[in-house]
Amino acid sequence: MSTIYDTDYIEELRVRNAMQPHRMKLFRNALFKNSNSWGEALATLPETARADFESNLTFESLEMSERHDSEIDGASKLIFKTHDHHLIESVVLRPKSGRTSICISSQVGCACYCSFCATGMMGFTRNLTAAEILDQVSQANRMVKSEGRSIRNVVFMGMGEPLLNMDNVFQSVEFLRAAPFFNLSNSRITVSTVGIPQAMDHFTKTFPDVQLAFSLHSARQDVREKLMPQARKYPLELLRESLLKASASGRVMIEYLMLAGVNDGEEDLDALERFLKDIPVHINLIPYNEFSGNNLHETPVEERNKFADRLKLLGFDTTLRYSLGSDVAAACGQLVQHKIKVSAI
Ligand code: SF4
Repeated sequence: MSTIYDTDYIEELRVRNAMQPHRMKLFRNALFKNSNSWGEALATLPETARADFESNLTFESLEMSERHDSEIDGASKLIFKTHDHHLIESVVLRPKSGRTSICISSQVGCACYCSFCATGMMGFTRNLTAAEILDQVSQANRMVKSEGRSIRNVVFMGMGEPLLNMDNVFQSVEFLRAAPFFNLSNSRITVSTVGIPQAMDHFTKTFPDVQLAFSLHSARQDVREKLMPQARKYPLELLRESLLKASASGRVMIEYLMLAGVNDGEEDLDALERFLKDIPVHINLIPYNEFSGNNLHETPVEERNKFADRLKLLGFDTTLRYSLGSDVAAACGQLVQHKIKVSAI
């Protein structure tokens, strides 16, 4: 069955129901601008067309199976079930700034096997379709509507490596930016990657103004290879070239998880300084959300502060991030991995 994102099929439905184009605008506004229910969206159509739309379009491509609200901050972890019974996660964040954000998944599992990541331990199952990616945002919008909120930022930092599902992720970004759909500005969309040079270059060319977040985590090749097996394929010299191209057109974020005794020493600062020299980037230092699948630990907060201060002194635009949703296992893959383990017992 077609989805509410299948614009060609919706046009076919419009024509066969002899509807004026403006009726489609009302229908789309109900779905995407007002985050209405399916019944309310159908009610914008002429009565004679409703049954045809209802029986031939899928409203939701995912089923929201669980919602876990943090008791310590504004995070909500959502678990969605796909039609073929896989679980994926999204996290809604309500930071104090008031701008509601969502971190969404692009794949079921992941083939990158980063050692710090719970999703990496699950292996790869399949790519999410564009409708499944977008549905995380639609459903979250309907969820936060009762709080007088709407999703203002979308980050592709959930389960999966977005640039290994390029077609569907690119299509989703188009819908997120498109005025008749989610209507988000380029600066409100961030696509994160572990670093695949050709795909990064393609992304930069296609979406020069959309933010790219590069998960660096270490500017030392040997350390990076231990943390992220993909780093063996794509050495730092190649990635630096792609970052230079990306930063020439848009804003580039560097994501750096702070891992005690692994990437938070003097040598690491020197390597970062060399690697990022003359590339205009914003560095995000991220506290690590520990889980039982490895023996990595977060850098203590005083050390994180010192590291951030040193980077600022070196002239880098740096933000020390704080962790939201630690009580609802908000880091990528943690809750789904826990559920898979529990159901296997
Ligand atoms: S950090 Fe991202 S790319 Fe690495 S294993 Fe996890 S989901 Fe995949």
